[in-house]
Amino acid sequence: MDGLRELYQQVILDHNKNPRNFSRPASTNRTGEGYNPLCGDHYTLYAEVNGDVVTDIGFQGSGCAISKASASVMSSTLKGKTKADFETLFRAFQEMVKGEPGAGSGIAEMGKLAAFEGVSEHPSRIKCATLAWHTLNSMLQGQPDVVSTE
Ligand code: ZN
Repeated sequence: MDGLRELYQQVILDHNKNPRNFSRPASTNRTGEGYNPLCGDHYTLYAEVNGDVVTDIGFQGSGCAISKASASVMSSTLKGKTKADFETLFRAFQEMVKGEPGAGSGIAEMGKLAAFEGVSEHPSRIKCATLAWHTLNSMLQGQPDVVSTE
């Protein structure tokens, strides 16, 4: 278990230091802003959605290592996936970081997202880990505060 913990730690450190998709994609049709005042995490997310598929995701902004790594891993995991895939992963991710009973069963299939499992032991960081997910969720739901940049 210690080895696994170390590996997870490496994923978070790596994605915090070298965040993936940390830019505004050339073409985007959804924009959303996520702010977590408890920690000061503040990001703008961009997505290009074609039909049911999220073809591109990018983000900019700043915050703690957990929030930045989470946005980075989420963006690289979800690029090219459908909205339904997003909903399934979002639910599993939330259950995992909240440490809900039964959440463990799906962790093996979560790939790098499993790196955030340890967040469940630090309840104050759950909002950091889920910030980008909540932001993307409202973007995909087409909430009124989401503006089209095209
Ligand atoms: Zn944070």
